Amino acid sequence: MLPSIDLATLRLCSVLASATFVVIFLTLWRGRKDQFHNVHWAASLLLYCVALAGLEWINRPDDVLVRSLLVAVLTASNIPLSTGVRLFAGRPLWRWWMAVPPAVTLIGFLLPHMAAMVGIAMPQGSEQSLAAVGLALGMGVFGADIIREAGRAVPDGYGGRIAGIALLAYIPCYIIAIVGEILHFATPSTLAVIALLSDQLLLMLLNVGLLAMPAEAALVAMRESSWRDALTGVYNRAWLAGAHDEYLKPGTWLAHIDIDHFKSINDRFGHAAGDATLAMLADALIVATQDSELDCAGQVVRMGGDEFLIIMPNASSHAAQRLVQTVRTRIGDLGPFNWTVSIGLTEVEASDQTLASAVERADQQLYAAKLAGRDRVAA
Ligand code: GH3
Ligand code: MG
Repeated sequence: MLPSIDLATLRLCSVLASATFVVIFLTLWRGRKDQFHNVHWAASLLLYCVALAGLEWINRPDDVLVRSLLVAVLTASNIPLSTGVRLFAGRPLWRWWMAVPPAVTLIGFLLPHMAAMVGIAMPQGSEQSLAAVGLALGMGVFGADIIREAGRAVPDGYGGRIAGIALLAYIPCYIIAIVGEILHFATPSTLAVIALLSDQLLLMLLNVGLLAMPAEAALVAMRESSWRDALTGVYNRAWLAGAHDEYLKPGTWLAHIDIDHFKSINDRFGHAAGDATLAMLADALIVATQDSELDCAGQVVRMGGDEFLIIMPNASSHAAQRLVQTVRTRIGDLGPFNWTVSIGLTEVEASDQTLASAVERADQQLYAAKLAGRDRVAA
């Protein structure tokens, strides 16, 4: 069945499919000029088209140099795939080893011809087998690079992985081609048909995977920003409402912090000064949770208005107390006017069914601190 499939038609299909994605990537880039990785991916597919079309239409056996260069371009067309993913991940674009697979392909293709010039006869068809080694090497090197770099850019994403795996999946095709040549179990045209048939599937996988990558990254960024408070940058209630079972155990301490007489800060100094005070408090809370001397890492959440929550997992009572007292005293030195905070502190108990019930307890402690005269910690 396979030999009856026309090789020229398959090549044409590959060229047309690649050209379609060139148009897609360039159109995406026209819409968003800052997304230059699309140009890298379009360049890769354009190179691939040029090499395939050249191999189809410059089919003169004596044009060894041109054919060898075209096969090397076929391998080199993977370079912009990697550089596009690297650009996307904010990583250095060029690496010396990127030149190795195209060089191996070129040398592999030329080797039998160079050997013939010095009187050494290599088996017929060895130029294809040796070039296929370079092609397979390229798929392995660039496929692995894309998987690694895409994982850095979008850790939970699948698009980059699919694209990288699509490249790696070419390798068995080339191995079949190499072994087939050596063992003569198939004709060169059958093997070319196998390679180009797999191309129809893998090209789609590769390009759809690449297309999915920026969409996945945008989703992650949107999800992250929906969890952040716009004024202070700390987490918001939406984040707290998510499943945080890892905090629902004794050893997690919660501090509920509220600015004393915040309304009067707004009234006396203006809303902008009030905003700046909220941002200062958020910064002070983040600094405290990252302070290695306090040794009490935690997450900071703006509950709304002038209320904040610190979640301190795996903290001792002493460390949690020290952190909140430090925050309370440091506040006095911040900003152009005097202001204070009240803090309610509690530990998550084994009987707490939800984090909300522990937060409620911290809120009651905060209320107690306010009633007791403000500018203090109640635990
Ligand atoms: P208390 O000591 O009892 O906490 O008194 P308070 O004045 O701080 O009372 P409360 O905590 O109820 O005040 C919250 C005020 O915070 C009310 C609102 O005008 C103000 N506020 C809420 N969100 C913002 C904001 O994003 N920016 C500014 N500048 N003010 C805000
Ligand atoms: Mg207040």
